[in-house]
Amino acid sequence: MAPVAQERDQGIQDVRTSLGIHAGEPVIQRCIMEIYSGKSVYNGIAIGKISIYKKDAQQVKRVKVADAEAEIRRYVSAKEEAARQLQALYDKALKEVGEANAAIFEVHQMMLEDIDYNESVENIVRSQKVNTEYAVAATGDNFSQMFAAMDDDYMKERAADVKDISERVLTILNGKTDSTVAAGEPVIIVADDLAPSETVQLDKDMVLSFVTVHGSTNSHTAILARMMQIPALVGTALPLDDTVDGKLGIVDGASGKIYVDPDEETLAGMKARKQEEIRKKELLETLKGRENVTLDGQKLMLYANIGDIKDLAMVMQNDAGGIGLFRSEFLYLEKEDYPTEEEQFQIYKQAAETMAGKKVIIRTLDIGADKQCDYFGMEHEDNPALGYRAIRICLTRPEVFKTQLRALFRASAFGNIAIMYPMITSVKEIRQIREIVSEVKKELDEQKMPYGRPEQGIMIETPAAAIVSDLLAEEVDFFSIGTNDLTQYTLAIDRQNPKLDEFYDAHHPAVLRMIAMVVENAHKAGIWAGICGELGADQTLTQEFLAMGVDELSVSPGSILPIRKIVLETNVGEYKAGK
Ligand code: PEP
Ligand code: MG
Repeated sequence: MAPVAQERDQGIQDVRTSLGIHAGEPVIQRCIMEIYSGKSVYNGIAIGKISIYKKDAQQVKRVKVADAEAEIRRYVSAKEEAARQLQALYDKALKEVGEANAAIFEVHQMMLEDIDYNESVENIVRSQKVNTEYAVAATGDNFSQMFAAMDDDYMKERAADVKDISERVLTILNGKTDSTVAAGEPVIIVADDLAPSETVQLDKDMVLSFVTVHGSTNSHTAILARMMQIPALVGTALPLDDTVDGKLGIVDGASGKIYVDPDEETLAGMKARKQEEIRKKELLETLKGRENVTLDGQKLMLYANIGDIKDLAMVMQNDAGGIGLFRSEFLYLEKEDYPTEEEQFQIYKQAAETMAGKKVIIRTLDIGADKQCDYFGMEHEDNPALGYRAIRICLTRPEVFKTQLRALFRASAFGNIAIMYPMITSVKEIRQIREIVSEVKKELDEQKMPYGRPEQGIMIETPAAAIVSDLLAEEVDFFSIGTNDLTQYTLAIDRQNPKLDEFYDAHHPAVLRMIAMVVENAHKAGIWAGICGELGADQTLTQEFLAMGVDELSVSPGSILPIRKIVLETNVGEYKAGK
């Protein structure tokens, strides 16, 4: 080949490579850009491979049924759909990776037709009069255990296959689309929805962005995305199939769009914007080490919200003055059973030691509502956000509460820990907490276990607490306003319901007036008041909060430096005069 032609071909291949197209792959198939819109929960640009998130093994309940034959019919049609999916996978694999590698899907198809497997499912349904899901899951478990126990290595390996086909049938029975496993590289996660428990379990180093079909901008999953400082979209109507999975994607948090298979021009434009973002971030870096003080001398404590000690690195990198909200319930959500006192103690101690004398405000567990933990054995509630959650669980299950309090008090000997109680509505609850705390301290004294003197404060996140904040202020060391729940309860808007996003007015005067009132009542009683809900990071309100006299803002680590910039450039007196 002539050198010029060689150079030209190399040039073309370079562009193809930057678009994620491999040598020999037809461009036509890959370059049809699709754009989907959603609601942005965190700004920024992510560029990378898209991976559809596969849900954890499905939870199957055993349910009695009246009509076993109807269940069998459901099984037969789910099986037909599974066979169709497996055939499509076989055809695709045959084209892309050859016959030998595609053969696995043939094996799966054969297993699906296996007489023993099918008889087992049908027998369970008919003899026990139970739902198909249960019969499929039980058969899958039994058969995979049987294969795993065999001597032959080939047969042993079939244990995973039989589980896989059972999962496929269950997915179909549950009305879900088939999905593939996330790749072992940082990816854009696309999912139908992500529960907070699933989100916390994702390897944060491997996630460039989240895009979910469902989910609301005020959900805990959205909060986690902000904490991770990654662009994220919710309510994005994109298909969860091969037209998206494995493709190159760009998530643009500013416009709330995801581009699938972007064209060259879009990719180049986004890369340039990402560079600009990096440059702006570098400028903010110069604010590290500066005090948060306005031009006329008003100081603000600027702290970070975290859900895990893995977030401590981000807290340090962003120069937070402390931790204003450690959502301890995430420790519980990550586990299969109650975390022990010792496990919790080690984590709280590590947070206290890492922050080296800076304040670490740990909120006692706020399980319930959207943060469900199976092992808490909670009963179904029609209205979980108004139900059995947070301090209500702690006060009625003191053994669970005491374990956490013991861990917190013990850890308080190793740094500047403060304890914060969520979902308070009355003085009575604070007095009940105080009694339990006294018992815990007495036990620790008897066991000669050292502990510090942690500040104890409450979250103001119910309208009741805001309205009686003058009384509550007499009982505690500080207030932290949880605007997420305060807004939900004040406006009667379920923060989890995406249909209500347009009615969710975070700047509603009712909420802003309550914040002002809470701060005033705190100051009258000589205590400090901060905001740890998402509104605290709303930069359009930073000056307003300063004018109200808010003492502390606790925000996701990525918001610390941008807010510091506003504080440094604000003259509160002038702002008030200009209102
Ligand atoms: C809040 O309600 O504002 C808050 C900070 O708590 P969470 O979001 O965890 O309910
Ligand atoms: Mg709350």
